[in-house]
Amino acid sequence: MTRPRLVRGGAGSGGASSGGAGRPPGGTPPGGEGGAGGGGGATAGPPQLVPGLDQEDERWMRMALDEAMRAAEEGEVPVGAIVVLEGRVLGRGHNRTEATHDPTAHAEILAIGAASTALGDWRLTNADIYVTLEPCAMCAGAIQLGRFRRVIFGPRDPKFGACGSILNVVEAPRLNHQVEVTEGVLAEESRFALRQFFRRLRQQGREVAPGDPFETE
Ligand code: ZN
Repeated sequence: MTRPRLVRGGAGSGGASSGGAGRPPGGTPPGGEGGAGGGGGATAGPPQLVPGLDQEDERWMRMALDEAMRAAEEGEVPVGAIVVLEGRVLGRGHNRTEATHDPTAHAEILAIGAASTALGDWRLTNADIYVTLEPCAMCAGAIQLGRFRRVIFGPRDPKFGACGSILNVVEAPRLNHQVEVTEGVLAEESRFALRQFFRRLRQQGREVAPGDPFETE
């Protein structure tokens, strides 16, 4: 079952408006520089509803969800991330803040670190990052600094989201690079995993922040 998702254009990503958000199934991206040099052309128009034409997005998001499940098994809030470049996984990660006692050990940061190490370059231009939940301000900042081509996420995070919910770091027009945003990919699956996780915490009598957005009604 495919659900509609929203796609918002990043700067310089000329392909997004003409050819749709989908990449060719083979994975070879067009030769465009994905916005590295196109700082001035931010086209943060109204969000466009794109029917579920990109099976690829769901495929990679499933992989990110596997990472999220790994986090849940380790007692971490289930969030997973995958970095993809030219049809292959460059890095993956899941939330590890509890195990490492490190507030920066988010899935995206770990996946980006793995990807840039694998690539031998901090510039991840033309790479896409799939995250099972809207990235926070720190992670959105890292995605912007890494000059990602696209960020694709599941549900919005009304408490921490920085890709359109509370802040919009990845599309801020005054920054030197804007990232194309696709949201709502496998959002229900991800939300379900988060709800299950927090429900279990409550059953165990563990403290859960009040007003948790993934609380069961
Ligand atoms: Zn984060």
